[in-house]
Amino acid sequence: MFALYGSGVGKGIAIGKAFVLHRDQVEIPEYVLPKYLLEEEVERFHHAVQQAREQLTAITQHIPEGAPPETAGFMDAHLLMLEDRMLLEATIKTIREERYNAEWALKVHSDTLIAVFDKMEDPYLRNKKIDIHQVVDRVQRNLLMVQDQEHDRVLDGLDGHIVVANDLTPADTVMLKNHRIGAFVTNLGSPISHTAILARGLRIPAIVGLHGAVRYIRDGDSLIIDGKQGSLIIDPDNRLLKEFRAHKRQIDRLRAELQTLKSRLPVTQDAQQIDLMANIELPGDVKAVKKVAAAGVGLYRTEYLFMNKGTVPTESDHYNAYIRVIKSMGDMPITIRTMDLGTDKQVNGITGAENQGVNPALGLRAIRLCLQDPQLFKPQLRAILRASAHGKIRLMIPMVSSLDELDQTLDIIEESKRDLDRKHQKYDPNLPVGGMIEVPAAAISADLFAEHLDFLSIGTNDLIQYTLAIDRVDDTVNYLYDPLHPSVLRLIKMTIDAGNKAHIPVAMCGEMAGDTTYTRLLLGMGLRNFSMDAENLLEIKKIIIDSNSNRLATQAEQVLQATSSNEVHRLVHEINQGD
Ligand code: PEP
Ligand code: MG
Repeated sequence: MFALYGSGVGKGIAIGKAFVLHRDQVEIPEYVLPKYLLEEEVERFHHAVQQAREQLTAITQHIPEGAPPETAGFMDAHLLMLEDRMLLEATIKTIREERYNAEWALKVHSDTLIAVFDKMEDPYLRNKKIDIHQVVDRVQRNLLMVQDQEHDRVLDGLDGHIVVANDLTPADTVMLKNHRIGAFVTNLGSPISHTAILARGLRIPAIVGLHGAVRYIRDGDSLIIDGKQGSLIIDPDNRLLKEFRAHKRQIDRLRAELQTLKSRLPVTQDAQQIDLMANIELPGDVKAVKKVAAAGVGLYRTEYLFMNKGTVPTESDHYNAYIRVIKSMGDMPITIRTMDLGTDKQVNGITGAENQGVNPALGLRAIRLCLQDPQLFKPQLRAILRASAHGKIRLMIPMVSSLDELDQTLDIIEESKRDLDRKHQKYDPNLPVGGMIEVPAAAISADLFAEHLDFLSIGTNDLIQYTLAIDRVDDTVNYLYDPLHPSVLRLIKMTIDAGNKAHIPVAMCGEMAGDTTYTRLLLGMGLRNFSMDAENLLEIKKIIIDSNSNRLATQAEQVLQATSSNEVHRLVHEINQGD
């Protein structure tokens, strides 16, 4: 029995068996065959391709109910690639003429094909190389008889298992969303990476940045995960198992108690009404939002519509997704954030590796990417506008950093309205447009942004990343992540004050809004609108109901005067111990 530690990102206790996801590269052998074995080699190649077809078909047939509708399209695209003549016939020709083994012949041609796609001007086509690589990898594994069944096994039902992986992409996490896994653990990752945020949405215990997880844990090992502490115990003895089972029951009891707050309004002791909204990634997340009676959706991360999909979503894909959310939410506000693609949210056909600069987080991401590619952006804008005719939609712009950028965005929105006018399609002409304050430049000029926008929303995940210069996906600098850094607090305060002065609402939708450590401080700083993962909402509501915002304002003032993080931490601890 031994323990490992990482960063807990999904609260709760999980006890279960390990399921280790290995994604190792395969070594491709190179040799020349005697003539008499060539036809046998061609046959071996045909067989490996046929096997790949059968594997992919089987996966397609086992797509679980409720999986994102794009999943099937993604699989079909891979199946089609197995019919690609350039790849198949050329490989067979090379086996026969050059007498290469099938693996090497396939590698020669797939490398050529990948290089052709790599040179394409169109970023969508250029990105196809990732699909080619994945399909070829499957055939290679069949040839080498080292088929990595991991992905297929993932689709085969993992009820109650604890998934252990080196890393998960946001796309993997979306897939896992459709399974009842008990918990997950990754070697890499930081608590504010998008994968970790999605993990929280899975509403399961999870630990990221747990180095050595894949090395030390074997398939079938018995594990205990404490998502709050970020601790993992391998092969626990009976005494520990008993202790954790009791602890788990206690957590379940507390959760049940919080449920009784569902119908209570989030009003402070001094009668301040607070707006508590929820963040969603996919339309299906609305169920959890309703379960905690959130006042609306404060952040809909629409880029997840692009995940696990072979093609770029059309205007109708966007529109249908938004209508699904409207249907569930009725006339409650839904804040649709335009796609925030780039950096760790790479998607087939959009921002491929070719756009991964040296510092991708500082590169072509979110609104920057959209403004460079109106063909990508406008269908989404039209879909949001059309959806606004059916529900209380608000449009939110991610990562805006200058007024020029904001002007350009507002112009494209106006252009999209004119497009719809020409087609006599309805939309809300007064659709509120807000901006995320998540780049220090925007926080510092929040007063200027407030003049042009209907609301602001503070994205603390990025605001902290950019203010403190710590890459949110890099766990080696994770220790520097500090929402209570005086500079971060000042930027938050500036934004709240700018919104108040301009009489527009200011929300917070980053992870800080859903963390109970900061609720009382934020109330004291004047924040009245919080948006978070639904999982945290009732716990935050309880703190709000028990707090007096007037009294907290004085204490928050002291925190803002503090000059060191240590002092801030001490004062916040005091605030949280208060009445
Ligand atoms: C943020 O940056 O705080 C935010 C809410 O956006 P995301 O986490 O999707 O980047
Ligand atoms: Mg952000």
